[in-house]
Amino acid sequence: MKELELLEQADSRARRYVAEVEQRRVFPAAEQIAALTGFAEDLPDQGRPGAETLALMDDLGSPATVASNGPNYFGFVIGASLPVAAAAERLAIAWDQCASTQDGSPAAYAIERQAGRWLLEILDLPRNSAVAFGTSATACGLSALAAARADILARQGWDVVNDGLQGAPEVKVVVPASTHVTVRKALQVLGFGWNRVTKAPVDDKGRILPDQLPQMDANTLLVLQAGEVNTGEFDLFADIIPRAKAAGAWVHVDGAFGLWARAAPELQPLTQGIEGADSWTTDGHKWLNTPYDGAMAICRNPQALARVMNSDAAYSTASADAQKNLTLEFSRRARGIPIWAALRTLGRQGVAEMVTRHHLQAQRIGAALREEGFEVLNRVVLNQVLVRGVDDAATHSILQQVQDSGTSWFGGSVWQGRPAFRISLSSFRTEDRHVDQLIALLRQIGPKG
Ligand SMILES: *Cc1c(COP(=O)(O)O)cnc(C)c1O
Repeated sequence: MKELELLEQADSRARRYVAEVEQRRVFPAAEQIAALTGFAEDLPDQGRPGAETLALMDDLGSPATVASNGPNYFGFVIGASLPVAAAAERLAIAWDQCASTQDGSPAAYAIERQAGRWLLEILDLPRNSAVAFGTSATACGLSALAAARADILARQGWDVVNDGLQGAPEVKVVVPASTHVTVRKALQVLGFGWNRVTKAPVDDKGRILPDQLPQMDANTLLVLQAGEVNTGEFDLFADIIPRAKAAGAWVHVDGAFGLWARAAPELQPLTQGIEGADSWTTDGHKWLNTPYDGAMAICRNPQALARVMNSDAAYSTASADAQKNLTLEFSRRARGIPIWAALRTLGRQGVAEMVTRHHLQAQRIGAALREEGFEVLNRVVLNQVLVRGVDDAATHSILQQVQDSGTSWFGGSVWQGRPAFRISLSSFRTEDRHVDQLIALLRQIGPKG
């Protein structure tokens, strides 16, 4: 089969998938999952035709997908894929650029540089920061935390890049007790050791209690959060960051989804003071609605990130702002391209409108469920609604019924030691009628499950 015919088939299958995504079951039925055993073939000796492979993928795979690219998925702050971001990704795949350096791809370099400038503008962060486009908030957080450690140690006269960790002064890491599990993972991979990390006490919203912050000094790495994963709440940056900076600490902000509150004028006050931090991470693939996988590490001092991420070699030297010198990847896809396309197409107002709409939808769900007798556990300051039924058994039963419904889906969580469920608004496809449908389903189930 000719290459172009195969691409056309892929495109037409992709078009059909997207056209039907709203009608699909949000979570596949048991028989659709069972049919996936069809992939358990022997590795073919002789290659099979490309069109047949594509057909198998579509026929068995598509029905067993989770319709998180549809309007009725309310799990995990997942976001869908904006048409332009998905389309730009398709074109970029055709380019197949190794977007490590300007030499590797002048086009990718120029577009990612522009995406970086726009990000700093729309998130209103220091304009000379480095913007690294990596695979996830996890990976970007790891890069930023590595930069933080090297910078803290360099200021103590210790060169961790060349001399390593053995014998280095101890860096004191402080995180909110409610910190995201991927911050924990990044710290563990970096060798900080979870037991040695100080967990700062948090209030009933998951925010660090400023007056219970441990003593900070120039050896401190403080991690704050914009958008607590259950409640959507923000640490009190305007109070905490100036104190941490005065003590000489490095402040990193995990804003995987919450940093986008910065782009909506009504919500921006939640982030007040966040611009005083040293580094920030956020995702494209969550609230900006770009395809997987794309995220950003933003670092006030570009040299601090370049110091730990530089991968220049005799055969491959590049400018300090080459993405291979800022990210974990060496060979890499230009993950900034769909982000650029999304920002250009939505514009400042489009991003603000989307973020604000999700906030209002979340508030509407919270109010409706409260009225119905559900226990809404958070203030709904952002796009998360954290809910319980009348008791734990009811909470489990409600969750199960929604997940089995096929018409909406959200996930469970644990809040203050007891089960809860978490409704996240983050798909650009979610209109008010989809919210109405979710509320109607929950009304029908009721708080007693
Ligand atoms: C999702 C999330 C992360 C991790 O982001 P990935 O892109 O999935 O690695 C980190 N922090 C918070 C608050 C998140 O919601």
